[in-house]
Amino acid sequence: MYNREFNNKSNPLEFEYPSEKGRLILKGGRVVDPKNKVDGIFDVEVVGDRVVGLGAEIVPASADRTVDCTGLVVMPGIIDIHLHIGDLFDISNNPLMKAAKEGVTTALSPGAGNTFMSPSLLGAESDRGLPINTGVYIGAAAALATRLTNDELVALIEGGLDSETASLKLSGNTITNSTAGNMIGIKEHKGHFILPDEAIERLFDITSRGKTIFMTHTQQAEHAEHLARLSKGRPFHLGHATAAGCGSFGDAVSEFERVLSLVDSNITAEFVSSMLLENYGRHDGLKINPRVQESAFKALSDKKVKLLVSDGQSAAVMKGFGNSADNIPAIFRLSSLGVLSLTDAVATMTSEAAGFLSLRTGNEIFSEKFGHLGKGAYANITVADPNVKRCVYTVVNGKIVSFDENVIHSGFSAGRFICKYGALKKTGAGDINLYGKHSEI
Ligand SMILES: [Zn+2]
Ligand SMILES: [Zn+2]
Repeated sequence: MYNREFNNKSNPLEFEYPSEKGRLILKGGRVVDPKNKVDGIFDVEVVGDRVVGLGAEIVPASADRTVDCTGLVVMPGIIDIHLHIGDLFDISNNPLMKAAKEGVTTALSPGAGNTFMSPSLLGAESDRGLPINTGVYIGAAAALATRLTNDELVALIEGGLDSETASLKLSGNTITNSTAGNMIGIKEHKGHFILPDEAIERLFDITSRGKTIFMTHTQQAEHAEHLARLSKGRPFHLGHATAAGCGSFGDAVSEFERVLSLVDSNITAEFVSSMLLENYGRHDGLKINPRVQESAFKALSDKKVKLLVSDGQSAAVMKGFGNSADNIPAIFRLSSLGVLSLTDAVATMTSEAAGFLSLRTGNEIFSEKFGHLGKGAYANITVADPNVKRCVYTVVNGKIVSFDENVIHSGFSAGRFICKYGALKKTGAGDINLYGKHSEI
């Protein structure tokens, strides 16, 4: 162990942890990297928070850390663009820790109740140390509830709202005003609030001009069709689209087909991983009709729908329809059934998710540095056992944060805060003195 002798220090206050300056080498796994068209046995070399490259046989030096990945699949870190880690983030962080164990390296949380405080609340937790990358969608009702005009909301999303306008029209809290724009999108959620058409029009205007994701709660075909009519070519994303195939609002098969028929280049959709497994869904979520699952498989193999999400988390107060434990099994099942090649199945939660984030936010950093294992990518890596279909290692920004489904404390500070500007190492919200007079951050 790392005792004083090891550190060669006589004063325990000068204790130093062993250097992490050496490389992290993931040895001998089957590397599946869809973006770079790699599928083969390779070593992966990581220095700091970046992937340096792949090699047939990378020989470790004395300071290097080596992880044996023989028999395992090494894929880019799972990006789960729909994973509930809490509304307002004051409930517990267990959903997030669970996601880390299950191979999620980036979780974007679409809480219906998320207000403009949410980026500061989650940002403060991220600043204090979270094992995975996290980001947040604002609930649509809250996003429209202030005195800000559409133009000012666009400025907020783009990072250009001046502090005077913010203090007059957004909030009286400088922390909120400084961080409210750190969103990844806005969630329209008919399950929790029913917006008038004028409000939905405002959402389309704000999200299309400000370039942020417009996600909707998809369960009723009629509502999805209504949104499609109002969209007039502006983008929106059908959240958990498979939930339309549960029969909550009519015949499951026809409801799902109606939703699927809306998908085009502006209207994208995601499927819930739990609903693609043998049980057709979670007992604490929703189960789809077996014929809907066949239809969902066809939409995936036709590349009409390219994104999987967990819509987790089970065992959480604010939860969705699925569970991040089902992400890796769904990826392997799609491959073993021949619905998708393993490469294309992995892509649904890696390169496709990163590409979607870049497309909708206009920020190329997501496709350049996330969702692949090429040189210079952030070292977000998920290592899974294809036999038991479970995560073995989760690596976030070059740090191992989970091993055999145990979160490792030394990885607690690995996560960054994700918003349309990219991956923030610090949001500043965690450094503010709550009881003193605030200054602008
Ligand atoms: Zn929903
Ligand atoms: Zn959800």
